[in-house]
Amino acid sequence: MIDIQKIRQDFPILQREVYGKPLIYFDNAATTQKPRQVVESIVDEYYSVNANVHRGVHFLSQQATELHEGSREAVSKFINARSISEVVFTRGTTESINLLAFSFGEEFMQEGDEVIISTMEHHSNIVPWQLLAARKGIAIKVIPINAKGELLMDEYEKLFSERTKLVSVTHVSNVLGTVNPVKELIRIAHDHEVPVLIDGAQSVPHMQVDVQELDADFYAFSSHKMYGPTGIGVLYGKENWLDRLPPYQGGGEMIQHVSFERTTFNELPFKFEAGTPDYIGTTALAKALDYMTAIGLDKIAIYEHELTRYATERLKAIEGLRIYGEAEHKGSVISFLVGDIHHFDMGTLLDRLGIAVRTGHHCAQPLMQRFGIEGTVRASFAVYNTKEEVDVLTQGIERVSRMF
Ligand code: PMP
Repeated sequence: MIDIQKIRQDFPILQREVYGKPLIYFDNAATTQKPRQVVESIVDEYYSVNANVHRGVHFLSQQATELHEGSREAVSKFINARSISEVVFTRGTTESINLLAFSFGEEFMQEGDEVIISTMEHHSNIVPWQLLAARKGIAIKVIPINAKGELLMDEYEKLFSERTKLVSVTHVSNVLGTVNPVKELIRIAHDHEVPVLIDGAQSVPHMQVDVQELDADFYAFSSHKMYGPTGIGVLYGKENWLDRLPPYQGGGEMIQHVSFERTTFNELPFKFEAGTPDYIGTTALAKALDYMTAIGLDKIAIYEHELTRYATERLKAIEGLRIYGEAEHKGSVISFLVGDIHHFDMGTLLDRLGIAVRTGHHCAQPLMQRFGIEGTVRASFAVYNTKEEVDVLTQGIERVSRMF
């Protein structure tokens, strides 16, 4: 059992009030709150170790480099990468996907080639492929879903052709909560000799992810959704793939030797990390990983699963409430609408009760179109949320419903 009250003490923001009501933070799929351990790491490093990393001969630079590269090691262990060469630091999932779309597209895709994505992708796993389509004339194929919000695996298999070069699919939907069968998706793609990028923005914060066990070729995620700081993310890639990809941006750090005639590039992963990295952020991310590991990834998953089950049961009992996303395997996200109450009105009135939920299309407009809606209200949970908070949400929704 985890001691939630003790965990809550680590998150000072959870003590604050909003409109005179205790804050109930149910917008964790957008970003999580940060524990003291993470915030203090940022302050400590700026106050005592700050220096630009790599190549510095002086003490501080070496210490900062050790922290930064130690964080890469920590990330590598956390997702079970084969080596630190496979862990590229980026600004977040969005930049990780853009990096791959650019570099992979440059090297391996020609006009008429195809990428497979799914109906439930976040815009950050749609638009980079559209930019590539505009640049190179590639085509985008989309895996359809059923009414429960599950991928149609038979249809997925049918999308492969001679021209398929990459599959890029989310592990967990940020709207429906669906946990996709990524291991199976990857196995099928590999049968066609096609590599796979997994968008792990909503999975890594909530479950143990083992990139080797999944056999993912590329895996992207964001620190800020897993108790870490904003502005840091990861692109994991198998070394034999990353080795063959051209750089995404040019500048310092990513080179081996520069002359006006000819420049050679640095080894992995630095080839993809132009400019001064956010070394303060990577240290803080490592603290967030320590924090999650100390609680236990399995325990976090079990706790959040039970909380989501409880919330689903409570919400479903509300008259007129419809849940979007009823997949058999679901993460800790619940999207809903009540009667004909606009999602924005519901969100605004819940906010007045101190409850932070997200409303709108959740950066997944094609998915909204699939369900014929404009948006939903979304409650998403983290390890510091409680059943008591879910009860307050339930009462809040009932109260708002009575007003309409
Ligand atoms: N993919 C999914 C599934 C997401 O939920 C998000 C964030 N909402 C992103 C990608 C983008 O992440 P970021 O904004 O941290 O780059």
